[in-house]
Amino acid sequence: MSRNVQIYEESKKYTPGGVHTSIRSVDPFPVFVKAQGAYIYDADGRKYIDYQAAFGPFILGHNHPYVNAKVIEAIGRTDLYGVGCTDLEVECARLICKHVPSSEQVLFCNSGSEATYHAIRLSRAVTGRKKLIKFQGCYHGWHDYAARNMLSAWEMIGKRDPGSAGMLDEAVDHTLVCTFNDLDDVERTFRENKGEIAALIVEPIPHNIGCVLPQPGFLQGLRELCSANGTLLIFDEVITGFRHDIGGFQLVAGVTPDLTTMGKAMANGYPIAAIAGRKPYMERFNTNPGGDVWFAGTYNGHAVGTAASIATIELMENEPVHERIFRLGDRMRAGIREIHERLGIKAFVAGFGSVWTTYFMDFEPKHYGDLQHNDASMYLSYRRKLNENGIFKLPMNLKRNHIGYSHTDEDIDVTLEIIESVLKELRS
Ligand code: PMP
Repeated sequence: MSRNVQIYEESKKYTPGGVHTSIRSVDPFPVFVKAQGAYIYDADGRKYIDYQAAFGPFILGHNHPYVNAKVIEAIGRTDLYGVGCTDLEVECARLICKHVPSSEQVLFCNSGSEATYHAIRLSRAVTGRKKLIKFQGCYHGWHDYAARNMLSAWEMIGKRDPGSAGMLDEAVDHTLVCTFNDLDDVERTFRENKGEIAALIVEPIPHNIGCVLPQPGFLQGLRELCSANGTLLIFDEVITGFRHDIGGFQLVAGVTPDLTTMGKAMANGYPIAAIAGRKPYMERFNTNPGGDVWFAGTYNGHAVGTAASIATIELMENEPVHERIFRLGDRMRAGIREIHERLGIKAFVAGFGSVWTTYFMDFEPKHYGDLQHNDASMYLSYRRKLNENGIFKLPMNLKRNHIGYSHTDEDIDVTLEIIESVLKELRS
């Protein structure tokens, strides 16, 4: 019997479903892994080129020696987090403020969900308003504030679609849902809820539905609408932050939000996240004497996360990380497009920098609703077959792929060869 399956069966005895987050590969079984660089190895000893990258954190590759060395050094010299402070917190915050345009001040927490929760709560405190705007298809974490209309069933687009049983009705109803890339829709929502919108939260590229790019002027338009309405603009850069630029996608787009949330690639896989923003807002948190917005967490600013984040950012400063992953991303997208053209299989290969998604449809999606045209069963079969052939991607609809600094040109060549053979098999 497969060792993966054996471990899975054992795990199901102790854990509901055998896995510890709702989105983990269970098709046909979860993969229990070791990982190194660009590769993962399952419990049966199979090797995969990994583009799942744990949903994005591994921008430098798994088990990066420089990051790990800094983490081990930090563990060896401090256990003061929680009551005392470390110089690591100061240095990590300084680096974020140096690079991310909207960061005048920063606070650390442990997950992207915590960061977006705090950003929304702060916006409500600053504005004295209750309502929030989000976009259909964007994900901002598991909490009641934003967990609605994520990957909705098609018939639920535009309808009330809470992401979970047990959510507070009041929270669901205070979160208004707009269509990405549709400024008229956002403008109408502001008009109909005049003086009531505390914050607008957006993934500047909605990577939770693959890679739907903001159309020219869209993010700028959101900035203007938020400023005109006294609403805080929150860029949720948990995926885009540090991956698309050391300063985040806000630097690429030239649009500065009021608050930014970060996580994933900021520490190459170690658990840490951050909320950052303009000083007058950030000073409302009660880490500042007199602040009235509660901000707390036993492990906030933990030495492991901050050491990993400092190491990751330092490496981005000192080595051509983005240059390399962008070049490999361009090669991958061009290679896949050429294969599809040659084989006559319709696809829209979307992407930015190191991220790509092949949609099985023949036009560029501008928002979640457009993705109904993606052939989901083809998408799933394709990803499952790639997995069987040693390319790691979760067999789930609309999931993106990530290239890291440890991927090589040879990995791209091998991947393109496998993509071609899988597509030929699926065509026949
Ligand atoms: N925001 C975005 C854009 C995300 O993609 C995610 C996680 N996929 C989150 C927030 C939540 O982060 P976490 O899973 O660390 O709570």
